[in-house]
Amino acid sequence: ANYYDGNTVIYLNGQFVKAAEATMDFYSQSLHYGYSVFEGIRSYKTAAGETRIFKATEHYQRLKASAQALNMPYAYDTDELIAATYELLERNNLQDAYIRPIVYAPANMGFQVNTASFIAIEAWQMAPFLGDKLLRVMTSSFERPNPKGFKIHAKAGGHYVNSILASQEAKAKGFDEALLTDMNGHVAEGPGANMFYEKDGKLFTPALGNILPGITRATVLEICKELDIEVEEKFFTTDAVKDADSAFFCGTAAEVIGWQSLDDTIFPKAWNSTLGCRIQEAYSRLVIGLPVQEGVTA
Ligand code: PMP
Repeated sequence: ANYYDGNTVIYLNGQFVKAAEATMDFYSQSLHYGYSVFEGIRSYKTAAGETRIFKATEHYQRLKASAQALNMPYAYDTDELIAATYELLERNNLQDAYIRPIVYAPANMGFQVNTASFIAIEAWQMAPFLGDKLLRVMTSSFERPNPKGFKIHAKAGGHYVNSILASQEAKAKGFDEALLTDMNGHVAEGPGANMFYEKDGKLFTPALGNILPGITRATVLEICKELDIEVEEKFFTTDAVKDADSAFFCGTAAEVIGWQSLDDTIFPKAWNSTLGCRIQEAYSRLVIGLPVQEGVTA
């Protein structure tokens, strides 16, 4: 994949350096043990033509919370990181982009706490999705990491071995994406997105506790409030999802994307008549700085 070329710069510990020339320590505890925390953020070209990072503060606050959950020293200021990210976008001539900050550890082949951490921010072109292709989703044979063994609310590098395995399994079996359950057999989330389902005019989504508290999930809940859509956070099994009228994933990269089926059980409602479709439309307005509802001023 072409994430960068000879001109691309990344932000690295307070400086802008060429991506192709940046280095890190091969003895880093992060590389060997997955002991890192990161974020996935999007920027959009707004309706007014400006570049805007969507939910920048929320993402950098979660980065800090993730680092603290893993006992990582975190000496970075959210506002400074946001300013650096805007400069990174400008230096790379990016508007619609995916932004990937990562906090990583110094050389340490042991397990002890470090006295410092490092931060890098990369960004690359990513067009808004706005797709109407529906996903064929498969219940994974992999469970999400047990929250008694991991700080599952943190966005930690090591957790993504689980995501990679689940996603690879789904694709090897001819599906588009995986749905993972938690250690109690309840629906948790996708490898990189939260989920909602619709039943009888109401939305349901897994309660917090065993999932990543998605920023898009929170945005969807806000949109529901604004559009007067009833939504309930609770624990449920895949049987409830298979009995649903429709379902969708939401996440920074995925945005809002509908499902065609779960384990080949096809959802009965046409996507363009679902609550998910209304939310998708509202979300695509919100990210470019327009009010959730057409004709209403923000
Ligand atoms: N769950 C997992 C496991 C994820 O990796 C992501 C993507 N960060 C999400 C949910 C969605 O989170 P967000 O909406 O904050 O991108």
